[in-house]
Amino acid sequence: MTDSAKLIEVLGNVKDAIDANAEYLTDLDAAIGDSDHGINLARGFRKVAEDLPAMAGKDIGAILKKTGMDLVSTVGGSSGPLYGTAFMKAGASAAGKSEINTEDFLNMFSAAIGGVKMRGKSEEGEKTMLDAMGPALRAAEEAAAAGKSAKEMLEAAAEAAAEGAAFTKTIIATKGRAAYLGERSLGHVDPGAASFAVIMKTVAESY
Ligand code: ADP
Ligand code: MG
Repeated sequence: MTDSAKLIEVLGNVKDAIDANAEYLTDLDAAIGDSDHGINLARGFRKVAEDLPAMAGKDIGAILKKTGMDLVSTVGGSSGPLYGTAFMKAGASAAGKSEINTEDFLNMFSAAIGGVKMRGKSEEGEKTMLDAMGPALRAAEEAAAAGKSAKEMLEAAAEAAAEGAAFTKTIIATKGRAAYLGERSLGHVDPGAASFAVIMKTVAESY
């Protein structure tokens, strides 16, 4: 499904997509947070992209681990440790591998979500990035079980992530900064769910 060179290409595309969506994500955070989510993530992925050339020839686990460490060290705000942990857990799941197949991808994605839940002490349904990630993983698992191609699997995941992000509009935040707003968080898309939908769409479009 993916080798190290392809992963480096995909991460470069993610950096471009986050840059292009930085204002949109920050605007979402302005409504129910502190107006920094897009700025935070753009800073993080710029550092990730800077370090990509030196990652050529490294295995997938090492590249994802470095990506996670870059995000933890450069993204201010709670999304840094959360996304950072997600990438590091995905990397640990792919340790030593220069190529991954669909099954590896599903295991990595599942490990990433487990990392966010552990780090964030959170679950789905609390109006966070998990509400885009969980549905995306389940859609990917279903597509893989139905024998779909890697591209179809990623497209199904991207669609589910977008739907999950839209769904966050209908629920009250109980985790993160938006939880302080209680019912006033209703009617707004969660910035982290939206950024994950951007990332997943970019990954799917890279295939
Ligand atoms: P901060 O809230 O510190 O300003 P960001 O604005 O960069 O950080 O990121 C906010 C996003 O982080 C939220 O929209 C949400 O998706 C995610 N988030 C915050 N807390 C948690 C948590 N405990 N578990 C999962 N995701 C969380
Ligand atoms: Mg914020």
